[in-house]
Amino acid sequence: MNENLRINGQRLWDSIMAMAEIGPGQHGGSSRLALTDEDRAGRDLFVGWCREIGCGIEIDDMGNIFARRAGRDDTLAPVVAGSHLDTQPHGGRFDGIYGVLAGLEALRTLHENDLTTEAPVEVVVWTNEEGSRFAPAMIASGVYAGLFEKDYAWSRRDSDGNTLGDELRRIGYMGKQACGEHAIGALLEAHIEQGPILEAEQRQIGVVIGGQGQRWYDLRIRGRDSHAGSTPMPGRRDALVAAAEVVTMVRGLAADFAPHAVATVGEMSVFPNSRTTIPGEVFLTIDIRNPDDDALAEMARELRTCIIDCVDSHELECDLDEIWDKPPVNFDSGCIAAVENATRELGYSHQRIVSGAGHDACQVCLVAPTSMIFVPCAGGLSHNEAESAEAEDLEAGCNVLLHAMLSLANRPR
Ligand SMILES: [Zn+2]
Repeated sequence: MNENLRINGQRLWDSIMAMAEIGPGQHGGSSRLALTDEDRAGRDLFVGWCREIGCGIEIDDMGNIFARRAGRDDTLAPVVAGSHLDTQPHGGRFDGIYGVLAGLEALRTLHENDLTTEAPVEVVVWTNEEGSRFAPAMIASGVYAGLFEKDYAWSRRDSDGNTLGDELRRIGYMGKQACGEHAIGALLEAHIEQGPILEAEQRQIGVVIGGQGQRWYDLRIRGRDSHAGSTPMPGRRDALVAAAEVVTMVRGLAADFAPHAVATVGEMSVFPNSRTTIPGEVFLTIDIRNPDDDALAEMARELRTCIIDCVDSHELECDLDEIWDKPPVNFDSGCIAAVENATRELGYSHQRIVSGAGHDACQVCLVAPTSMIFVPCAGGLSHNEAESAEAEDLEAGCNVLLHAMLSLANRPR
């Protein structure tokens, strides 16, 4: 009935480019950190676009936005598409934004063709996906999925000491609905792959079957500040030397669990950070990921042992805190099938794939049927202003999204 229906690729592209103008980066990307004035402006633009096509807007008390196009049977749980609008400090134009605006484009297509689905269809914007202003990442979809307490989420602070809850209120996006109460019948998140596989395999669509597990650590190594000139080399308690060894060790850990493991030290603070003082303290973050739960647990054990051995060998002390443990996730077979069938019927090249990055969908899948649609991005590059994707691929992914949404919203009940 609707098999010839197609989204408008130019309109999708133009919307992505318009969003990128809010909080523009200096090198062609975007800098729209969660709950800043820029984030508010991006949200306002999105909400305005949704209102133009007659959508109702509901906002929960984590600032998640649900834009709704009513179904014939409005008592049915909605089929929801979406992702996030916040970016990394030096973020790209597509990460997250594509999933939100592809959802909007699907609804615009239904609107202009005057098509009503059986179940309602919605677009969701999840708050603070990136976690670069307020850790941890994906906090609002995490509250939705019951992984975090709301008070904990509201109390998270940015580096200036502002809390997430206060900032939600300040930008006017602390909604009334309790986070988690908004029904989701199915969730589909379209996203750039943020990895090189689709490009290398020359496939236009990745049918995402799940996400890898990840663990985050905070490590603080303590030695002793002392004079860089008058302290002899033997007996120094230099925290930065141990930290440097940890960085290479973390890289080696991924090699030990190749080819699917990744491991990264992404942040480091050196104290007192002075040219003429031996560093008495270093703080660093560690991120390890693996699609296999047992392998991830093994990596975690090896990491801890190696760090303790390293710190001991330098006669230093440390605190290693595991601040996040996310097991690997498997998406819903019905949602995966909806995406795969739509891809086949539309004739796009595709393959099944496991998500390397964390996504809101990887949280929500714990409480609602979920899957994802990946499209290639140039060189697999993301979290970089140079992040780029082909309009043609974005359009293909959005057509898959539209048809997967239609099949889920109109399925016989
Ligand atoms: Zn993202």
